[in-house]
Amino acid sequence: MNAPALNEQRVTDADPVASAQQQVMAAGQFAAARGWVPATSGNFSARVDADRIVVTRSGADKGALTPADLAVVNLREPLPPGLSAEAPLHVARYLADASIGAIFHVHSPAAALASRRNARHGVLTLEGWELQKAFAGVTSHLAVLNVPVFANSQDTVALAAEVEARLQNQADLAPGYLLAGHGLYAWGRTGRETLRHLEAFDVLLQLQLEWERNPL
Ligand SMILES: [Zn+2]
Repeated sequence: MNAPALNEQRVTDADPVASAQQQVMAAGQFAAARGWVPATSGNFSARVDADRIVVTRSGADKGALTPADLAVVNLREPLPPGLSAEAPLHVARYLADASIGAIFHVHSPAAALASRRNARHGVLTLEGWELQKAFAGVTSHLAVLNVPVFANSQDTVALAAEVEARLQNQADLAPGYLLAGHGLYAWGRTGRETLRHLEAFDVLLQLQLEWERNPL
């Protein structure tokens, strides 16, 4: 992770679009290497400035992204054709929270399974795991963190509205949410922080699955 971070810093000063592209391409490689974005699934974005993001186009292999696979999108204008069908979920998050610098979405097996198991509750609660401290601002394993779970939908514009309405009122929110049987959305202030959150979520969801299957 050290080399990409250095590259990220170098291009940040020169070109914010190139920096955002670099963060998305690095995240795609990271996720693909771990089997979280099988068969061109998943989508990734990073903020360029207050009004713009870089987001993956539809169908790209996330492990081999190039700048041609990424679109620069204005958050306050209609989305251009050819983007991931889930781009509205990214746009809604950036508009709702100006501190978000990157959003990464994966179809990891742990996320697909844990979300489906907890769909009827509408939330998956994390508590008692030391790794929860990998999330920004969390300082104790005793913190209770809620990960909202939404029913999956192909109408991502309506889903984005449902997600944002719920997140505004969700206490003790972890930096992510689940779509049942589908996957995980995670965010952070930077690409590096969002990757850390993704990795922590993956382990925590695996722990949670094992815990639910075989509690003490
Ligand atoms: Zn998806």
